[in-house]
Amino acid sequence: MTIPLTDKFNRPIRDLRISVIDKCNFRCPYCMPAEIFGADYNFLSKQELLSNDEIVRLAGLFAQIGVSKFRLTGGEPLLRPNLPALVARLTQIPGVDDLALTTNGYYLPKMSHLLKDAGLHRLTISLDSLDEEVFEVMNGRKSSVQRVLAGLAVAEADGFYPIKINCVVKRGVNDHTIVDLARRFKGTGHIVRFIEYMDVGNLNGWKMDDVVTAEEIIRRIDLEMPLEPVPPNYPGEVANRFRYLDGEGEIGLIASVSQPFCGGCTRARLSGAGEYYTCLFAHKGTDLRGPLRAGASDEEMLDLIGGVWRRRTDRYSELRTSFTRLPAKGAEMYRLGG
Ligand code: SAM
Ligand code: SF4
Ligand code: SF4
Repeated sequence: MTIPLTDKFNRPIRDLRISVIDKCNFRCPYCMPAEIFGADYNFLSKQELLSNDEIVRLAGLFAQIGVSKFRLTGGEPLLRPNLPALVARLTQIPGVDDLALTTNGYYLPKMSHLLKDAGLHRLTISLDSLDEEVFEVMNGRKSSVQRVLAGLAVAEADGFYPIKINCVVKRGVNDHTIVDLARRFKGTGHIVRFIEYMDVGNLNGWKMDDVVTAEEIIRRIDLEMPLEPVPPNYPGEVANRFRYLDGEGEIGLIASVSQPFCGGCTRARLSGAGEYYTCLFAHKGTDLRGPLRAGASDEEMLDLIGGVWRRRTDRYSELRTSFTRLPAKGAEMYRLGG
């Protein structure tokens, strides 16, 4: 039975992003800069990571308090052993209406059909530029545009459609290639989503000057391919939607920095080690792995998870603009999965 639950600002809990692994085969400087995440970096051990049984149990508990949309992320989720088995089990949980996954696309050629067979509903692929040199800079020289497009083609052939394509925009690095990226997917049915570069964690050296606002992105694309706004698909949708006037599809803008959407934020996050976060910018998560491994009952776990949500007051992005200096932040993106 679902017990509806709201936080201090009357926001229900609807979405859970589950980071299934903290490792990644890319070194995007805005997320896992190579100089910090070197060969001797201490990632979570197998024992420290939540097991499939633990993730499935927690997902079932979150579903009981109102979560219906789940997204698997990382690090790079396709690096997790036994991922298709986890997907198959998650789709069986009552109340799981939507199960999506965000990937850098590198391992899709071998993994896509396994994920489709396991019942994964939707796929998002990150691709920051179609220009090989620019993309290499954005991913820390670990992949190529051709490799990601090959993964996308395989996923499409396996029946993932439409696919969302995430592009983080960083001024002076890839912003001169956004119109090309939009043009490449116009008319394909796939939806490119441009994401304002965010100040998650403390490692990427974020500066406001690096952000290209959603408004500027729209202006630049609209100049060449006219756009008009579209109403959200559902209340609280994170991306602002725009469609091409010629009917050839739509794009999304995630304006987390310039137009914060905390008021409608219904999203919780679970790290690979089982920490439960109620905001992408939270200082501290709540440990769920400890009680789980100590034998807590479902009722005890529901009390813990529900209690944290009831006390939630997070609205970091709305407050950010009023900070004269940004406060120290908590978890890094690679641990929370974006
Ligand atoms: N490795 C997978 C990938 O890159 O798609 C999944 C995890 S990644 C952390 C999830 C999403 O967060 C990606 O689309 C990535 O581009 C985005 N992201 C990472 N760091 C970001 C930042 N500082 N600002 C905005 N988006 C960011
Ligand atoms: Fe890896 Fe994704 Fe972070 Fe890039 S954004 S380093 S692909 S986890
Ligand atoms: Fe949600 Fe926190 Fe982002 Fe606001 S800053 S939208 S509360 S995750």
